[in-house]
Amino acid sequence: MSDKIFSIEFFPPKTPEGVEKLRVARAKLAELHPSYFSVTFGAGGSTQQGTRDTVLEIKREGHEAAPHLSCMGTSRDNLRSLLQDYKSHGIKRLVALRGDLPSGYGTIGFSSGEFRYASELVEFVRAETGDWFHIEVAAYPEVHPQAKSPQDDLQNFARKVKAGANTAITQYFYNPDAYFRFVEDAQKIGVNVPIIAGIMPITNYSQLMRFSDMCGAEIPRWIRLKLASFGDDSESIRAFGLDVVTRLCERLLAGDVPGLHFYSLNQANATLAICHNLGTPSV
Ligand code: FAD
Repeated sequence: MSDKIFSIEFFPPKTPEGVEKLRVARAKLAELHPSYFSVTFGAGGSTQQGTRDTVLEIKREGHEAAPHLSCMGTSRDNLRSLLQDYKSHGIKRLVALRGDLPSGYGTIGFSSGEFRYASELVEFVRAETGDWFHIEVAAYPEVHPQAKSPQDDLQNFARKVKAGANTAITQYFYNPDAYFRFVEDAQKIGVNVPIIAGIMPITNYSQLMRFSDMCGAEIPRWIRLKLASFGDDSESIRAFGLDVVTRLCERLLAGDVPGLHFYSLNQANATLAICHNLGTPSV
């Protein structure tokens, strides 16, 4: 893993207890020496302050930190000042996204902002800050849920790279063939940036099903049935999830994936256990 990009994602905690819990989780995960920690950004700016506070705290601890930046429901002026703020704090990496409408908003009474797509945000970041930031964008091996077609989605992904993205992180998936096919298809149309695999540890069946329904990530039938069969037996769910995700990572690494990005959900143990199985040198 030492030659790979290896990153870990958090969301900004909403309570003082959450902040404290994240500090504890982060201290454990820091022992894996990730390339950087990233922090998600709530649609509609709901967690803009939380993202900033968490990112700056990570930076103060001496780690590289990458804020996610969504263009949904925000203005150019707001983004401009946020970019300057991050720049002034020495932040060098961003994850640039369109974002989603906050749940419960519908479309009435909520402005989707001045940008329609992440490619426009990437263009804006490049126009405002040149090459200061390393820009990551999202990629969807199993196709974004709102895409007109897989081909259209791939072209839209290429648009983000053309606009100036350096690397991409995928939505999570459990079928490595979907990832390898996506990388191959991207290369065929001349997109050669590293596409880092997004990895979602499996620890909780209902939470996983909820996330996957929202983001269009497919849970293969055999995984779904097996998880459902464990009922409330969280020990068995965790053990099975660890085995499935370890093997997924092993296949990706054997296939020369350029890196792994862990959706930690602010929990250390599942990511630590997978990395331990993978023999990450520092564990
Ligand atoms: P886009 O790349 O803009 O694509 C959105 C849809 O529009 C796709 O269907 C695409 O095919 C289509 N499209 C793109 N360009 C065009 C065009 N020019 N014409 C027509 N159609 C077009 N969400 C958050 O709110 N906060 C986060 O912090 C966050 N972090 C994420 C991190 C990762 C690694 C990933 C994979 C997702 C993350 N998301 C986050 C979720 C993301 O915001 C949603 O998946 C969102 O629906 C799409 O964002 P995007 O940046 O991929 O959008």
